[in-house]
Amino acid sequence: MTLQPLIMHLDGLCKKDELASALPSTDQLISIDLPVGQGPKARNLNPDVRTIQEALNKISINQGGPKIPLVVDGKVGPKTNKAITDFQLKQFGIKGADGLIEPGKQTINRINQLLFSTLPIDPAVEALIAAKMVSHLDLVSRAIHAAQANLMIALSPSGGLDLGRGSANARVDRHFALDTLKPALRDKAIRDILGVFNLYADALLMPAIFGALGAGAFVTDPTGDPRIAFAFANGFFRKFEIDPDKKIPRDRIFLGRRAFFALTDSEFCAFIMLHEMAHFVGFPDKSFILDNGRGWFTDSTIKALNADKRLHNADCYAGYATECRTGSSAKPPYVKAATTSR
Ligand SMILES: [Zn+2]
Repeated sequence: MTLQPLIMHLDGLCKKDELASALPSTDQLISIDLPVGQGPKARNLNPDVRTIQEALNKISINQGGPKIPLVVDGKVGPKTNKAITDFQLKQFGIKGADGLIEPGKQTINRINQLLFSTLPIDPAVEALIAAKMVSHLDLVSRAIHAAQANLMIALSPSGGLDLGRGSANARVDRHFALDTLKPALRDKAIRDILGVFNLYADALLMPAIFGALGAGAFVTDPTGDPRIAFAFANGFFRKFEIDPDKKIPRDRIFLGRRAFFALTDSEFCAFIMLHEMAHFVGFPDKSFILDNGRGWFTDSTIKALNADKRLHNADCYAGYATECRTGSSAKPPYVKAATTSR
């Protein structure tokens, strides 16, 4: 049986898709419309300049990235010009340092190669990835335990002292629209959500694969796929299955060595991991948790979903667990709203 994993792309959307065996398809590589930098050929369109500024910021200093990250403002000033020239000097020497990045030419090709190539990764980077994994997992496990505690409080019998029961119920209603359900169905829905997070906790406790870099269900992607993260739907229940085409285990969540670990915001990384875990464990009745809409409960993309759609939507679990951990219902800056094809 061909079973395609759900892959989170650089735009944060998960799609069923083949894993890349070499460079990603062109829509995932960075590209510019007109030349960026200095000299008579430069056009410096604002979106092009932003693309270059963001990309250079992701390149390590020893590969010629800027020592102080550039302000991503779409404007070419002395700092952006210096960053372009420094990168070219490091990569190509003085002959290639003309200060100009042209569409499809050597500088942008090298940026794509560094950011997305599937060549083996530097061993020094491996240690850095391991350290990042530990810090992200700390946030993830705290979010899971906070969600479990909140759901237990929401389920506690009414009457007597409130002890947070009211706010715990308001919180689960916000994210999953359970206030639209009849009491008996609402009660079942809360138990199901708790069931999902209990599976999350089990996934965290899975023994690591011998020799693989990872913890619990998470491993760094051995295929070198340039995309952010991927998991097989209900992979948690596919213990010891090896995907015959891709030669990778189906009972793991894969984090992209470059795209994922290039992200510098631990909170964002934890959110992505909580999102992938929803696909990975699925709903207690074994139905899939997919992407019905991306975003925070205040976004129109989530507001448009009824309770059942939200109960089967990965971002609703990531958002709920994040609020349980932080205690704040304000939308975090890294959460992006998007409709999905499914
Ligand atoms: Zn997804």
